[in-house]
Amino acid sequence: MHSRRNFLRLSSISLPVLLSTDQFSIKKNKKPIVVATWDSGVSVANKAWEVLQEENGSALDAVHAGAISIENEISCCVGLGGNPDRDGIVTLDACIMDHQFNCGGVAGLERIKNPISVARKVMEETPHVLLVGAGAQQFALEQGFKLESGKLSASANDAYKEWLKDSKYTPVMNIEQTQLRINTKGSGPSAPGIFKDGSFNHDTMGLIALDSKGRLAGACTTSGMGFKMRGRVGDSPIIGSGLYVDNEVGAVVATGQGEEVIRTSGAHLITEFMRQGKSPAKACKLAIERIVKINPTKSRDFQVAYIAINKRGNFGSCCIHPGFSYAVQNEEGSQLHTAPTFF
Ligand code: ASP
Repeated sequence: MHSRRNFLRLSSISLPVLLSTDQFSIKKNKKPIVVATWDSGVSVANKAWEVLQEENGSALDAVHAGAISIENEISCCVGLGGNPDRDGIVTLDACIMDHQFNCGGVAGLERIKNPISVARKVMEETPHVLLVGAGAQQFALEQGFKLESGKLSASANDAYKEWLKDSKYTPVMNIEQTQLRINTKGSGPSAPGIFKDGSFNHDTMGLIALDSKGRLAGACTTSGMGFKMRGRVGDSPIIGSGLYVDNEVGAVVATGQGEEVIRTSGAHLITEFMRQGKSPAKACKLAIERIVKINPTKSRDFQVAYIAINKRGNFGSCCIHPGFSYAVQNEEGSQLHTAPTFF
């Protein structure tokens, strides 16, 4: 997600252990544990881990803290520094879920710095699950959140100007291998989140955790697809698509082309596969296979990736194309994994 800047930052904290695809599932009973999407998941998982280490540190507080930490950064894909929609406005999607089916989300939220915190307020302070657009912003203001300026970050502004040259909506799958980030055509980004050929990038920070008391929780936050249609909502704020938690079974979060995740109710589907006894890795693989099966041609051009943990603290992942990394933090330390792929 953050390429070079992030990697340098990581190396000053603690260098993660790099693991290859055949080590994607630890069979031991490990808790607490936190798993987060992409390279930037390493620092996010670190933040969540600090909470899990506290006495009574809950999985819910851990994933919340991790999500806030990345929303506060300038990133192409999460928080107010993210790329705007095609009208030049940054709209944020987020959701959060705990071990008791409590959940909340916001979609199309503008000018509020921490959508994950608003999502948590939706969960805790309202009878609803999802608030959108102006209503979500109104609720956030009522809850004491500050209205930010709405000005694009310098990098998003550059990316938007670049995009306006052609104004083409051409999502490109992310390929992220530790600090190296290239797009499918092999050209590096000319500005964060946009490539020399005018195509652009997208990401979501999704993280799932199991605390020492056996409580699962998950959080998901994104600015969605860069240069999306105004009003477009992806999978990330939708419980059952971008995120799902069932404390009897496990927790799942998604990143990638949201429309395909929604079409297959991805996170819920994987939870149900785990309920049937599949490992997190196998359950993710089956859900990816389903997306490819219904999109035999189109799936060559888009990315979807899932991460999952089960009740025992085993974890796994799968994605359609090479280039998806995810971070794991447990008592064995901080690790960055490369997910197994369909193609
Ligand atoms: N899933 C996000 C969306 O569709 C984007 C991403 O994760 O790359 O909005």
